Amino acid sequence: MNFDIHAHHYLDANTLEQQLAVMHKRLTAASLADDPPIHELREYAHRWTFEKASKQQQVFEETRALAIKHQVEYYRNSRDKAQCKVCGVEFAFHWENPHRKSRLSQRPELCLQCFREKRDQLLRDERLAQFRVDNPLMYHYLDQQGAPPRPAQYQAVLNWRDHDEECNRISLGLVLVGDSFTGKTTACYHLAHGAVERNDFSEFLAVNSTHLNSIPEKVLDRSIGPFMERLKSVELLLIDDLDKVRITPRVASELWGLFEDRLRHHEFPILITMNTRTKRDFVRLFSGRDADSRQIGLSIYNRIRQACQFIDFDVETQPADPPALGTDGPGSQEPTALGNPN
Ligand SMILES: [Zn+2]
Repeated sequence: MNFDIHAHHYLDANTLEQQLAVMHKRLTAASLADDPPIHELREYAHRWTFEKASKQQQVFEETRALAIKHQVEYYRNSRDKAQCKVCGVEFAFHWENPHRKSRLSQRPELCLQCFREKRDQLLRDERLAQFRVDNPLMYHYLDQQGAPPRPAQYQAVLNWRDHDEECNRISLGLVLVGDSFTGKTTACYHLAHGAVERNDFSEFLAVNSTHLNSIPEKVLDRSIGPFMERLKSVELLLIDDLDKVRITPRVASELWGLFEDRLRHHEFPILITMNTRTKRDFVRLFSGRDADSRQIGLSIYNRIRQACQFIDFDVETQPADPPALGTDGPGSQEPTALGNPN
């Protein structure tokens, strides 16, 4: 006997079992009496179960269709209109939960465009607040609103981008060289503030020689790890007055690790200011102690020379010819810095 009807999944299991039990009794009785013939009875039992199952299936299908219809109705009814509180435009929206319409759900107040603008504004405020927390010296540099001492170089710094419009990498940073009081650091702060405001970078951190001179101290109190990690991972880093750092072997190797990590492994841009203008003078900063440090100094110089754009703040008027931005003093055999945006 084949009761394997696919529709029986929709029957109540107990009901089906009871019916089968009854049928089994009848079949047993019939086979004993042999009247009516057993095959007829089997056929009857089969048909009876099948009809019953079909009926159940039909009810199930109808219920399901009704449920879908209700769902569609709910969706249709959930469409509504609201007026934007900012721009006044009327816009359509869907109630997320039609059941709770007008009781617990809230009517949206802003159209999509105004909502996005407001969201971007909140995120921008958040980034700038973090900028102020990270850089306590910010007020000093951002308040310098007078004419920059080197307008052409200042503008070149503000025009610096690490990506072009197609998101191709064009530069890994800036190295601003020249005398003090030519506005190098101020230009960096203005660049960074604008970049964080535009969301070109989400965060900026400035460190100077005071911070870096505390490296030996941080080695002793074991806070060197998190400190260097922060310098390696911040999206945009400024090292102000790099040539004022007292270079010990440990400081030299930490600096090398920092530049390698940022410029080579992660391609995180870096901004550097220093008075030192030539390669020879730069390497001399490292040569006080031993030959190893000297080699590190040379490697660091070559790395930043290759990755960053150099801007000389000593010339009064910046030449319009872009390759001149990378000049390295007389007699230099260095190639022009890569990543020149012009
Ligand atoms: Zn609006």
